[in-house]
Amino acid sequence: MVIEGDGIGREVIPAAIKVVEELGLGLEFEPLDVNAERFLRTGEALPEGAFRQLEKADAILLGAIGDPRICDPRYTAQTLGRIRRELDLYANVRPARLLDPRLSPLRDAGPRPADMIVIRENTEGLYSSLGGRFKAGTPDEMALQEHVSTYRGVRRILDYAFSVARSCVVMADKWNAMPHAGALWHRCWREARAAHPDVPARHMAIDACALHMITDPWQFDVIVTENCFGDILSDIAGGLAGGVGFAPSANINGTTGQAMFEPVHGSAPDIAGTGTANPVAAILSCALMLAHLGFAAEAAAVEAAAAGAVRAGECTADAGGSLSTGEAAAAVARWLR
Ligand code: ATP
Repeated sequence: MVIEGDGIGREVIPAAIKVVEELGLGLEFEPLDVNAERFLRTGEALPEGAFRQLEKADAILLGAIGDPRICDPRYTAQTLGRIRRELDLYANVRPARLLDPRLSPLRDAGPRPADMIVIRENTEGLYSSLGGRFKAGTPDEMALQEHVSTYRGVRRILDYAFSVARSCVVMADKWNAMPHAGALWHRCWREARAAHPDVPARHMAIDACALHMITDPWQFDVIVTENCFGDILSDIAGGLAGGVGFAPSANINGTTGQAMFEPVHGSAPDIAGTGTANPVAAILSCALMLAHLGFAAEAAAVEAAAAGAVRAGECTADAGGSLSTGEAAAAVARWLR
């Protein structure tokens, strides 16, 4: 199922699908009319019937949800929030692989491109929404924003990280300043390490990890961490790989296999409709989707084609080229041929 959504989602997703169609795999891309226009018209962004279709889909491909005309938090909650929550897409997987050395802010500093995957727990942690405000609006106002970690939630995200590691898993946390959650994460970490004895694993404090990602990113393979820490680390990783135009992501339930794939960037209303959006993040999200659906070789070919096009300068302006969204995707399709 495909939700183009809003803004540049409506531009980069059709462009990325054309690249996948070049492979001739016979995949069906069924569109779902979920976007700001619908929400403004009907007050309901994702009708029940549409959600049932999503539940049954082999994969969900999403562009972006967001529109400057909508401040109502129910729009995101009914769409992105509901899909992630009800399908329990607990693993947010954000690979950051540098396609072209010239795009790295560290291009003069290191021997080889960074190539890491940040795995962010996607359902609990500091983003659990538990908490409240007391004496709001007064000088005595107090706000509580709770961090929630569950044994089940932590075990499964650690196991997922070990299952995708190529050479090493780093678990990043702040156990000394967050001793209660830290104790649970470390209990789960000991169990996960024992369950995966063949995979080298290290623990790092989250602040040290953030520093090392900038000063020595080459040491990392998989980094796994809680929701809020992962949100921040994955943006650092994305920056190392060339910025939002190059950052794909997957939201996966490792148990049911249900999954949603989306570029990390949002609807970018400032450039929507100009035809300048970089389609590579959406194309790389499609590559993640292909790998998830069992087309590993095809996924690698799409990624290699994107790298070829970008290195040849056949890309959009944010990446130093002069092509439009459609032209940049067509260039990737040519490299794929
Ligand atoms: P939203 O509210 O939907 O998250 P946003 O504008 O706050 O939208 P992004 O969409 O991530 O957040 O955009 C952040 C900045 O990055 C914007 O200046 C945008 O133009 C730029 N940007 C985002 N995606 C792309 C892309 N694919 N190609 C080029 N520039 C992009």
